[in-house]
Amino acid sequence: MMSYLSQPCPIESLCCYQNVATVDVLRLDKLDPVISGNKWFKLKNFIDEARSRQQVILTFGGAYSNHIVATAAAAKQHGLQSIGIIRGEKPTVLSHTLLQAKERGMKLFFTSREAYRNKEIPAAVYEVYPPSQLFLVPEGGYGLEGARGAMNILLQHETEKYTHIITAVGTGTTLAGLTLAAKSHQKLLGVSALKNNFSLQHEVERLVPLEKQNGFVLLHDYNFGGYAKKTAYLLSFMNEFFSETGVPTDFVYTAKAFYAVTDLLHKGYFTQNSRLLVVHTGGLQGNHSLPKGTLIFG
Ligand SMILES: *Cc1c(COP(=O)(O)O)cnc(C)c1O
Repeated sequence: MMSYLSQPCPIESLCCYQNVATVDVLRLDKLDPVISGNKWFKLKNFIDEARSRQQVILTFGGAYSNHIVATAAAAKQHGLQSIGIIRGEKPTVLSHTLLQAKERGMKLFFTSREAYRNKEIPAAVYEVYPPSQLFLVPEGGYGLEGARGAMNILLQHETEKYTHIITAVGTGTTLAGLTLAAKSHQKLLGVSALKNNFSLQHEVERLVPLEKQNGFVLLHDYNFGGYAKKTAYLLSFMNEFFSETGVPTDFVYTAKAFYAVTDLLHKGYFTQNSRLLVVHTGGLQGNHSLPKGTLIFG
């Protein structure tokens, strides 16, 4: 597995659109086959902090959470123990994601949905680890530390020539990091993977200084029904997109972002000579929940 930024993720040219725009992709998915690209970046500062305090990393996620696997892997690579608080009852068969987290040494604790919502730490955790030993990483790596880590996604390369930078959005931490790192002539477009999650605007604004707050725009019309929801149309878009470009996507996040770019290009959203950089945020975990054969790539 690669350590942090031992090598930059490649930028690949995807297409030219009718002499209007060029589209490049920053392939964070190539960082590691298992670990979601953007999660890795968001975790860096949390990991450094936990290491300096010699604490055990504790975080939260669902059964298909890219963040859970990324945390397990990052902790392991840096010689830290990790704990995952997982939403819902313990299933009889662990998901692919949870097995991968476990393989990387993460100790899993399952909680009820209500306890999860309140981000309660199960008593069973405290039986093994005193509170003073725990270093809490918020769900999805949300927060300023996460955003500061995500700045490095853009700072890996010379990216000043781009006019628009596009990313999929969950908590908004990655979008905030990209906005922090962008130049004033660049516009960030964030494609929300959640339905009607309008508080996102405020959550991203909380992480960026006032003078940068109009540097980003959130798009709420490409969620395909909501978080981790999909349609047959989206799945066929993923297959088509893969056969045309060779770029694999996941139905939870990146497919929605790439679909949005395609749709905006068709609608004439971008002015002449736009140069787009789409951040492929990685994280193909969600695809493991699809029936075999649904996708032409695996
Ligand atoms: C988690 C995730 C996102 C969302 O990142 P946020 O920083 O929470 O907005 C986007 N894409 C992928 C692949 C992810 O795993």
